[in-house]
Amino acid sequence: MDQSSLEDIIKKVMGQMAEVTPEESASRDDSIPVELSGRHAHLCEADIEALFGGPLTHVKELSQPGQYLCKERVRLIGPSGVIDNVAVLGPARSRSQIELSLTDARILGVKAPVRQSGDVTGTPGIILTAGTGLVGLEEGVIVAARHIHMSPADAVAFGVCDNQRVPVYMDGERPAVFKDVIVRVHENFRLAMHIDFDEANSCGLGRKAYGTIMSAT
Ligand SMILES: [Zn+2]
Repeated sequence: MDQSSLEDIIKKVMGQMAEVTPEESASRDDSIPVELSGRHAHLCEADIEALFGGPLTHVKELSQPGQYLCKERVRLIGPSGVIDNVAVLGPARSRSQIELSLTDARILGVKAPVRQSGDVTGTPGIILTAGTGLVGLEEGVIVAARHIHMSPADAVAFGVCDNQRVPVYMDGERPAVFKDVIVRVHENFRLAMHIDFDEANSCGLGRKAYGTIMSAT
């Protein structure tokens, strides 16, 4: 792949990971900025070495502090299909994890369960390749559970706590309520709701989308 087409792809993917500035989110009171997560891979050090023969290449910071998009890409090979050009996010993790939409999982022929990030025990595996590098993951393929990142101050303001599941009203072209949205509280988190493209398309969300936590009663 030449450099210009690689840069085009990186720009496209970065555009999909919609950025919302703190000023924008602060101006919307109780609204939570929604960011769409495309399919991506988190990799452990050993798998990074096996696939790329060296460390990941930082391209761009993502909205949650410390997380970044890498130049490297992987191919996913499942029992019934292949998906190329899958984004790799850094930094390295203790275990490799592939996050897909349910549509992606169907294409690949993998029965990926809905799980919180990091909870990969007992999930299906998949084959990853990059150039001549190849890794057979025993497990690690998930559909990420929809969630909201927020700081402890945000949690107080919204009246919610870490790991609480809340319903969220999605104000899209086809308005919907997502139930069981997991609240994740950490001092390093910046307010953002993360859903995948299946979920975004289901309610016709535009690029600048917002969700509102509803009363659980
Ligand atoms: Zn997230």
